[in-house]
Amino acid sequence: MTLLHPSGTDIRVDDALSWLDDDAARRDAAGLHRVPVVRQSDSPMINLASNDYLGLSTHPAVVAGAHAALDDWGAGSTASRLVVGTTALHIDFEHEIADFLGFPAALAFSSGYLANVGAITALVGRGDLIVSDTGTHASLIDGCRLSRARVVVVERGDHAAVAEALAQRTEERALVVTDSVYSIDGEPAPIAELYSAARNHGAAMLVDEAHALGVRGPGGRGLVAELGLSGAPDLVVTTVMSKSLGAQGGVVLGSDLLRSHLIDRARTFIFDTGLNPAAVGAARAALSLLRDDPQMPDRLRANATHLAATCGVPVPAAAVISIVIGDPQPAVAAAAACRDRGVLVGCFRPPSVPAGTSRLRLTVRADLDVDTLDHVAGVVDDALRQVGAR
Ligand code: PMP
Repeated sequence: MTLLHPSGTDIRVDDALSWLDDDAARRDAAGLHRVPVVRQSDSPMINLASNDYLGLSTHPAVVAGAHAALDDWGAGSTASRLVVGTTALHIDFEHEIADFLGFPAALAFSSGYLANVGAITALVGRGDLIVSDTGTHASLIDGCRLSRARVVVVERGDHAAVAEALAQRTEERALVVTDSVYSIDGEPAPIAELYSAARNHGAAMLVDEAHALGVRGPGGRGLVAELGLSGAPDLVVTTVMSKSLGAQGGVVLGSDLLRSHLIDRARTFIFDTGLNPAAVGAARAALSLLRDDPQMPDRLRANATHLAATCGVPVPAAAVISIVIGDPQPAVAAAAACRDRGVLVGCFRPPSVPAGTSRLRLTVRADLDVDTLDHVAGVVDDALRQVGAR
């Protein structure tokens, strides 16, 4: 049975979700249907599709950190951080990561996504301005949208356009939002220039260091530390425990005042169950390994340099190797060809990347040896030839 909508189209009243069929068919035809890769715990696959840059997710000390937290605190944090979901472990970790990254304070969220959404929506709202760019991660974009601030999006890397948008604003309060290392291709944003544009125009800046922690900067402290900007009062840094630290969760770093503001105002902190203690225990152990072995990020970047050179692509500034193919279908086929030969690589298609730039995305790891990297490069090269991309 159908109802006639005022627009002239028929609406099915027996199944209001029947449009999902058409949408699925459209996604299929465009090569945009996704099927999660199911890993098995004993899989011999070589994994270059993860964000486990330092290979710490399976490090015995990190796993032991999670076990100890489970033993001490149980399987869940049991409530919102504001109720009883804050354990002593959360607080210890927050002190340790703030200290490591050179900020007075840190606040942990249950994911990096929620840290970004929470921080942005707590800092700006209706009547304020956000200046963002075309390369920012979805979690920053969603934070901008949810904030209800006016959002100006400039081309990635165009710090002059950021300065111009700030100069022309009518709003009093403004926030510049950027990834420090772009998640899609691992290239760095012009943080120093963006920060001086923000400063010159009385704006605050939020930098997402998800792909820089453990990868760039002194001892893996990130790009902000590399530029000597750690602890700057008008700078807010977010990062994750889900990549180099091999665990789960996100964190916002800044002043003590910022931390207490977020506790009162960040809805993704207030209304979300606190980060799982096992994740905190794992992240804490990983942070301690990174602190004790400051050469780990150097090994990661040496591996990235080696793999990029062997794959015949430019050496990345961080640890993501992006091989642009173009259309989604050959990109999916190339990733499948790699998988068939035991190598897992990422395949990014719209909406993760702009149309026409579907690509293979390899995240390098510090714990892979040169023979493995050479084998990966051979498999990727064969796959690219197989789909006509080489
Ligand atoms: N920021 C960036 C730049 C990311 O790449 C990601 C995750 N891919 C996130 C934030 C979200 O972090 P999480 O996965 O911990 O929610």
